[in-house]
Amino acid sequence: MQTKPNKSGGRIANVIIIPLVTLVFLSVVSIFVLMHWSARISDGSAKQSQLQLISGALQLVADDIAKQQSGVVTWDAAFYIANARHLDKEWVFDNMTHWLYANHGFTKSAIVGTDHEIRSVYSHDQNNSWLTPDILAQMTPAIAKARARYITSFKKTPSGLYSFEPSQRDKRYSIYETGILTLNGEPHLFSAAAIARQLQSVIALRVPPAVLISLTPLRGEKMAEITHMTRLDGFVLANNQNSREGIGQYLLRAPTGKAVGVIAWPVGRPGTQMLKRINPFLSIAAFMIAAVVIVVAIATRHMTKRLAISESRAVHTSRHDALSELPNRTHFHRLLSDELEKSKEDGSTTAIVYIDLDHFKDINDTLGHSAGDQVIIAIAKRLKHVLMDNGIVARISGDEFAMVVPNCKSDEWLDYILDQIQDEIAQPIKIGARELHATLSIGAAIAPRDGLDPDELLRKADIALYDAKANGRNRRSFFEPNMEDQVQSKDKLSRELRLALKNDELSLAYQPQSDTAAQRIVSVEALARWTKEDGTVVSPAQFIPVAEETGLINDIGLWVLNKACAKAHDWPDIVMSVNVSPNQFKHPRFVEKIMAILAANNLPPHRLEIEVTESVFAGRNDTVLKALRRLKNLGIKVALDDFGSGYSSLSYLRRFPFDTLKVDRDFLSDMNGNPEAEAIVVSIIQLGKALGMTIVAEGIETIEQIRFLQAHGCHRMQGYFISKPLGEKELAQFLDDFKAENAGNIGPGLSYTLRAAEA
Ligand code: C2E
Ligand code: MG
Ligand code: MG
Repeated sequence: MQTKPNKSGGRIANVIIIPLVTLVFLSVVSIFVLMHWSARISDGSAKQSQLQLISGALQLVADDIAKQQSGVVTWDAAFYIANARHLDKEWVFDNMTHWLYANHGFTKSAIVGTDHEIRSVYSHDQNNSWLTPDILAQMTPAIAKARARYITSFKKTPSGLYSFEPSQRDKRYSIYETGILTLNGEPHLFSAAAIARQLQSVIALRVPPAVLISLTPLRGEKMAEITHMTRLDGFVLANNQNSREGIGQYLLRAPTGKAVGVIAWPVGRPGTQMLKRINPFLSIAAFMIAAVVIVVAIATRHMTKRLAISESRAVHTSRHDALSELPNRTHFHRLLSDELEKSKEDGSTTAIVYIDLDHFKDINDTLGHSAGDQVIIAIAKRLKHVLMDNGIVARISGDEFAMVVPNCKSDEWLDYILDQIQDEIAQPIKIGARELHATLSIGAAIAPRDGLDPDELLRKADIALYDAKANGRNRRSFFEPNMEDQVQSKDKLSRELRLALKNDELSLAYQPQSDTAAQRIVSVEALARWTKEDGTVVSPAQFIPVAEETGLINDIGLWVLNKACAKAHDWPDIVMSVNVSPNQFKHPRFVEKIMAILAANNLPPHRLEIEVTESVFAGRNDTVLKALRRLKNLGIKVALDDFGSGYSSLSYLRRFPFDTLKVDRDFLSDMNGNPEAEAIVVSIIQLGKALGMTIVAEGIETIEQIRFLQAHGCHRMQGYFISKPLGEKELAQFLDDFKAENAGNIGPGLSYTLRAAEA
């Protein structure tokens, strides 16, 4: 069986795997992004704190130069000289500007007077032209601030004079402002300090102070101090800001706000460094997670695929017959309903066909179940082969198949398809060394003509099948409304039969059986007759099967036995043959009942012969064999009736020693000069003889048949040529006539010919 996984398996896989893989992928990506993001944050905050460090260090250096400057600005002498009408430049040079260069490295200095006039300019290289209006302008805000603070540090006293009360900050060294500017493209630190008296006193008027401005280059010693303080390496002074990854830049601004340069340094990136360190581990972890996810995904896919396969296998098994692989009854019903829905929509015609394998039970019983299985498989294959994909074939019970033929345009088309099927089935089926010839009975109903409801159509196809079987099997019937009446009449028949038994409407006819020399009537076969109240005679071929179906056969069978045994007394030398149906053997006390009947009629057992057909061996073989053996042991004769009509098996003959073998009348009627049929009859006669049985040929109708049977040593014969089944009185007359004729020694051949001529 090939099973395709159904789509739900793929869906399950996708429902589990896709979200799982996506989730894991997103988690891994998120972790990476988060790590990078926090590394950046950490880098950023490290840079920020370094900038603050630099800013603080720069402030400290600036404060330091103010402190160095303070010695010369807070000094009475300097105050008087700086504010004197004529500035003593030599004193200023010696004690202030050059002194500051010599002691503290201030390369440039200048004194700005009360009215913001330049009173003195100093350069360590005597190039005093450095103080251009532009440079002065850069320092002006700082100078102005220093002046303002100086003035505002004089507080008015109640006397109206001003007393010097500098702020806490200004008190430390001097009143100053620091800043940065560029001079010849070089950043310089500068301090602008008010030149004040050492001992401040009360003054009447507040005037702006003279201011000493002192410059020192940032490069060199000052930068070294900053490096030392910040403990950061690799400072570089650059002119322009030029943002680059991994470079920290501290922007230097003049008090005017103008950018005057940049301190650049390779910025430490702890976040990135940490990331670099853990990156390999992170990558390995991500790789491992990915590997685990892939393995899990593959395993899940595999599992769900297997699940889907076993699911669809289970579905297939639940819907199909294990032996033939065809849809089973339930699934067929579903498929039929779907097909009918379609034909309702498009108005097409659909045929529903029931197929019954004739005598399948016999195959099972005679050749065994494995042979039966092989036959079913072969039939299933052939049905499928004919229908191909143009319909549905199902096995709905042991030997019953059903088909749906969609788009069945006409009855002729269906007939054609069924011809194909019967031709195909007619081919011999090989079972080991044996070749079996199977036949089918077929019943069909057609939608919408016979209805559109699946159950109704199936019922009608079944009725048609019943009709085909009732008409002798190996044929087909299409449903016709009057068939339903037949089914109903069958019910009616069974009801009437029950009453007939009660009302004594049954009787017996007796058909004589003679030896082949035609000199002696050896036995008579009791055959049931049913004459209705209105005089119509119902054939046993019609009512015995109904009696079997309804179970009434037990009562009828006992009635026949009783009557036949009672009558046997009237013809002392003749054996009474009674047909016994297989169902009667199912009765657990059947043998006891026969014994009771024999006893009641005081009939010795050897005067009774019971006839059974091969079908008696179907099913519970052992019980039947046991019962047959008991009957035989009691002295009752046992005949195998209609031999050759079913799937005759020689094994019956071996398993049970029949006294008599009745060759089915079909063989005799087939003969008619046909060498093959003759050969069969001859071989049956020889076989029966070899097994020590008495051979009876049934259905003898012609003198030729008698000559043939005489020539081949058949023991006995029964048939219309000798006599039709006769009533009690007619039989008595017949027996008398027969005796007289033979006593008259007319000679066998002639006597028959004469009687035939009379008939
Ligand atoms: P069977 O046991 O094989 O009986 C022989 C049948 O063949 C009888 O049909 C008989 O009338 C018919 N027959 C005899 N000679 C000829 C002939 O030369 N030509 C033709 N065409 N037919 C011939 P009948 O009486 O209609 O019985 C049919 C079957 O019904 C019997 O077949 C037997 O199987 C069954 N049957 C009859 N009575 C009983 C009964 O009391 N109990 C049971 N269980 N079955 C019975
Ligand atoms: Mg019989
Ligand atoms: Mg017979």
